[in-house]
Amino acid sequence: KKITARHAKSDVERSYKLGAELGTGNFAVVRLAEHRQTRQKYACKIINKALCAGKEDMIETEVSVLKRIRHKYIVGMDECFDTPDKLYLILDYVSGGELFDRIVDEGNFTEADGSRITKQMTEAIQYLHSQGIVHRDLKPENLLFRDRSPKSDILVTDFGLAKLLNDNVALKTACGTPNYVAPEILMQRGYGKMCDLWSIGVISFIMLCGYPPFYDESDAVLFEIIMKGRFEFDERYWRDISDDAKDLIRNMLKVDPIKRYDTYQVLEHPWISGKVKLPTVNL
Ligand code: ADP
Ligand code: MG
Repeated sequence: KKITARHAKSDVERSYKLGAELGTGNFAVVRLAEHRQTRQKYACKIINKALCAGKEDMIETEVSVLKRIRHKYIVGMDECFDTPDKLYLILDYVSGGELFDRIVDEGNFTEADGSRITKQMTEAIQYLHSQGIVHRDLKPENLLFRDRSPKSDILVTDFGLAKLLNDNVALKTACGTPNYVAPEILMQRGYGKMCDLWSIGVISFIMLCGYPPFYDESDAVLFEIIMKGRFEFDERYWRDISDDAKDLIRNMLKVDPIKRYDTYQVLEHPWISGKVKLPTVNL
């Protein structure tokens, strides 16, 4: 399917002044953009269509997803320019940097901060799931702080790999006549959501100790470890961390998605719900 370009680069430049590079990823460059009339700052995500040839559907998915979502912990999209070789997404600008960099700088977070960020990520993902959207690429590079303050909110970004789980489409492609459809196909509704909770579990683990739960030099070995769900709370780093934190992480890092906590269970967990007082300093 071909994307019909509705804009030219000049359309972007007429409305926005493009500035410094804010970051890069696999398919895109993100630059600061200032609206010429309002002087409002935005982040302009420039996706090179040539780099994602054959993945036009993926681009369309990202655009349609971003356009319809509004949530306080999700980077919103204001408008989109579709030009012959590039796609320009005008996103809310956030200035706090990546969670990735803050982990590198600070080593690890206090339980109070780790809990707060885990809660915000989970609320954002719960909203996405309620819209039938699975993020699929949650990682510290795709989580941005709103500002530089230590208590800044976190925002989820980068829906490049999000898939719209449109039940109607799934049904139509799965079978010709819906009357004869098997229950397991109907139950595909929401299928795949639980992968985001695994990612939140991994991120929460890293925030508390500063290193990842699953790691190996060799990808083949790493995949083995992940598929077995083999990880431990090394006493040297986890001795002073609460049992509540460990309990929640264990329940998010369950290999079987049926047994894994969903967003509701995470938000009700004592470590997240605020029913217990958490350390605000590292012991
Ligand atoms: P990709 O799909 O190529 O991974 P991302 O959307 O993740 O692209 O953006 C790449 C990087 O650009 C991010 O990791 C972040 O550092 C920066 N960035 C993205 N969006 C914004 C934004 N709205 N405000 C500030 N920086 C951003
Ligand atoms: Mg990214």
